[in-house]
Amino acid sequence: MEDRISRSFKYSEFTKSDTASRLHLNNAITDWEVRDNIKALVEDVLQPLRDAWGGPIFINSGYRSPEVNKAVGGVETSQHCKGQAADCGCTDPYALAKLAKKMRLDYDQCILYPSFTHFSYKKDGENRNQLLYAKTWRGPKDL
Ligand SMILES: [Zn+2]
Repeated sequence: MEDRISRSFKYSEFTKSDTASRLHLNNAITDWEVRDNIKALVEDVLQPLRDAWGGPIFINSGYRSPEVNKAVGGVETSQHCKGQAADCGCTDPYALAKLAKKMRLDYDQCILYPSFTHFSYKKDGENRNQLLYAKTWRGPKDL
């Protein structure tokens, strides 16, 4: 199956999970809906953002199978389990969130963490364009 989604992103980046490797858990995508959701997230949010950003964006955590989500302590309703969310690591998560807002990208949620920015996107239905700060965020909250 084709691994490439867009110029800068591949499905294998979304299924790669240190937790899954460490605990020998399966994190393969098993349904088309999840695959389509990841594709939409990339095409409508992450690739345009990557192009404007001009530097690497690493997918720290993309898709999470139910087992992996449980292992990382994710909430049961996590958009990661639907392929609708990705934690994007880069040199400056604050600047990345600021750029996404400035570009008026139609994300559902953008959540700032100290070492990455979480983006989610729903291909069907209303995206809330919410910009939130994680409990662990210690930087400015002025976006
Ligand atoms: Zn996340």
